[in-house]
Amino acid sequence: MLLDLSKLLSDPGALERFDLTLDFSDMVFGGNAPAQEPVRASGTVRNTAGVLLLDGVLATTLHGVCDLCAEPFLRETEIPVHAILESDPESAESDDIWTFRLTDGKADMDDILRTAFVLNMDAKQLCREDCKGLCCRCGANLNRGPCGCKPETDPRLAVLKKLLK
Ligand SMILES: [Zn+2]
Ligand SMILES: [Zn+2]
Repeated sequence: MLLDLSKLLSDPGALERFDLTLDFSDMVFGGNAPAQEPVRASGTVRNTAGVLLLDGVLATTLHGVCDLCAEPFLRETEIPVHAILESDPESAESDDIWTFRLTDGKADMDDILRTAFVLNMDAKQLCREDCKGLCCRCGANLNRGPCGCKPETDPRLAVLKKLLK
């Protein structure tokens, strides 16, 4: 989806709104497709002294799998998007991941919004903030209560205990 910003380019101080529904269901992270529901993207592009600034937010219900306990979870998520849209084809290619080049005054919204989504997915996905994860010995989900394993004893500590006796 291309957003035509050619009018905005010649009008410093002007603002263009966008409100899109995107399909990111093809995106897979670690065998899991988190964007099974439509992703709503809304925000503005503002011409600030000749520089186009995009500010927006992606909103969807993520279908996640917890990194610690491997349980699936659903979560309402809002992902902020802030990008600079570069209109000058002569300017040097920027290394900044948040700078995007316009083509004929048009912004590739799919590219920009997908990048924002992917960068957000780099963060740890947890079913809840205080997830206790799985027991490293028996594999039980510790969110459901203690598993009954004895606490791990470090063999070096065991030696030390013997010496102290
Ligand atoms: Zn978890
Ligand atoms: Zn255990």
